[in-house]
Amino acid sequence: MKTNYDFAVIGAGVFGAWTAWYLRQSGASVVLLDAYGPGNSRSSSGGETRILRAGYGPDELYARWAVRSVPLWREFFDRVGSDFFRRTGVLWLGRDGDPHLTQMWELLGRFGISREKLRAAEIGKRYPQLRFDDVTLGVLEPESGVLLARRAVQALVSDLQQNGVVCVTAAVLPPQDGGTLAHIRTSAQESVAAGFFVFACGAWLPKLFPDVLAERIFPTRQEVFFLGPPAGNDNFRQEKMPAWLHHTHPDRPYAVPDIENRGFKIAFDRHGPEFDPDQGSRVVSAAAVDHLRAYLKQRIPALQDAPIVETRVCQYENTWNGDFLIDRHPGFDNVWLVGGGSGHGFKHGPAVGEYLSSRVLGHAPPEPRFSLAGKQAQQLRKVY
Ligand SMILES: Cc1cc2nc3c(=O)[nH]c(=O)nc-3n(C[C@H](O)[C@H](O)[C@H](O)COP(=O)(O)OP(=O)(O)OC[C@H]3O[C@@H](n4cnc5c(N)ncnc54)[C@H](O)[C@@H]3O)c2cc1C
Repeated sequence: MKTNYDFAVIGAGVFGAWTAWYLRQSGASVVLLDAYGPGNSRSSSGGETRILRAGYGPDELYARWAVRSVPLWREFFDRVGSDFFRRTGVLWLGRDGDPHLTQMWELLGRFGISREKLRAAEIGKRYPQLRFDDVTLGVLEPESGVLLARRAVQALVSDLQQNGVVCVTAAVLPPQDGGTLAHIRTSAQESVAAGFFVFACGAWLPKLFPDVLAERIFPTRQEVFFLGPPAGNDNFRQEKMPAWLHHTHPDRPYAVPDIENRGFKIAFDRHGPEFDPDQGSRVVSAAAVDHLRAYLKQRIPALQDAPIVETRVCQYENTWNGDFLIDRHPGFDNVWLVGGGSGHGFKHGPAVGEYLSSRVLGHAPPEPRFSLAGKQAQQLRKVY
């Protein structure tokens, strides 16, 4: 392989792959390296499905980025001739007067995003398989839905290769010293030189840059379940149920309809314990199964005893409040860091790649919310 590039991107998850795409569009030579391969089972982007929604409560920045990402995903799907989006609709479940829903309703309207208010009786009528006694108000985004995450990232990396990006399986070692980084070394003792380096290493970023990121990115263990509906029952497919977020429940359950017959997906969006992305056990805990069954019994009785047909243990890579990290490394003048997807980053892959490539190429002003300097060591989630 050639060993001297304009750009080396380390990490072929959704952030790294989209960044490599935009850098390559500038005419530069780009190498993309990943320790375990694109969309691997340890990576956050390796999940089967990720929700794409525009609703972010009052948060304009992420609503805008989600809206911006939609046509960019669409262009990519058209280019590769495969559609990795399922328009399931996304339903927010809450209560009247909830500021998150109220402000989100207003913001979606301002952005021209289709949305529909559903009262409790309407929710019960449309989705009788679900029981949300505590919910008085729902906001449905009918145009939103679900991305087939792993397959989309893998297709994007194939597309990168078709477009001249060199893609390599290699574990990059933590860079040493500082100043201008001339090259990186891999665990196989290979050396790759580049003008600029982008580290898009998800939950591994604190391992690569412990001095800077050990207290700034917190990988947490997240357990995901797929349940098998009863034979012949199609009530949990996208024709009969949207993706939904039980927003006002303290454990923040969310669900994705049964897509491609993998089963009804459900998980809890509260942060789990600290997690090692290389060695952490990917087997779900008995306590999590009990917790899930208790929720099902109350909310989705038809699935309370349904078999668990598949499980995933994935990790979030949280910043203190959920804002992404997209900034230059303070010790190197040609090293950029991107990560901190914090459980909501996948949908934004195109917008992240577009922004970061513009920053690296010197065309875009910095967004203060993505700065390293703004990242605190406490955990106080604010982005939902
Ligand atoms: C359970 C779960 C549910 C989620 N739900 C949603 C959702 O519904 N909607 C949404 O938008 N987002 C969601 N997210 C968040 C989203 O998946 C992540 O924000 C996003 O995938 C992060 O992408 P990334 O590229 O930063 O990291 P990753 O996908 O983890 O990629 C990092 C890559 O870096 C590689 N790497 C690491 N270290 C090295 C090294 N030293 N050398 C070479 N390569 C290296 C890894 O192998 C990996 O492939 C969810 C996340 C989880 C875990």
